[in-house]
Amino acid sequence: MIYDPSNIFSRILHNEAPCVRIWESSLTLAFMDVMPQADGHVLVIPKEAAGTIFDLSEHAAAACMATVQHVARAVQAALLPDGLLIAQLNGEAAGQTVGHVHFHIIPRWKDVPLRPHGKVPAAAAELESIAELIRGAF
Ligand code: 5GP
Repeated sequence: MIYDPSNIFSRILHNEAPCVRIWESSLTLAFMDVMPQADGHVLVIPKEAAGTIFDLSEHAAAACMATVQHVARAVQAALLPDGLLIAQLNGEAAGQTVGHVHFHIIPRWKDVPLRPHGKVPAAAAELESIAELIRGAF
């Protein structure tokens, strides 16, 4: 994938767009998804400019996975979901809508269906209060 540096996650990384931050390392950033498929939906991105998993260096991929595990543990501890879905989409045909590689961490509760992918914006205050719970669980 040709990397377009004007994509929204690149703009977030360069502090040109806001996000509700959860965790940051030298190589990765985790923040709340603004159109969460479930309460507590977090995204993990590398700071490296890579569109898909195929473009990502091994070093950055390892850093992403470490952050995914770290954040997933905090989400689990903070929100006590029945299960936790981790997903990563590559290319339009797979459902990817933002051209900067990212990992979804989505809590699941029994009998609670997922909201549609990237369609239903959450209130900023609600995202912040869930983020606060997750940050408190590190
Ligand atoms: P994809 O479809 O590429 O796998 O996932 C992109 C995700 O980014 C979607 O879940 C969507 O809700 C989320 N998203 C889109 N625009 C923004 C934004 O401006 N800020 C944040 N935090 N998430 C976004």
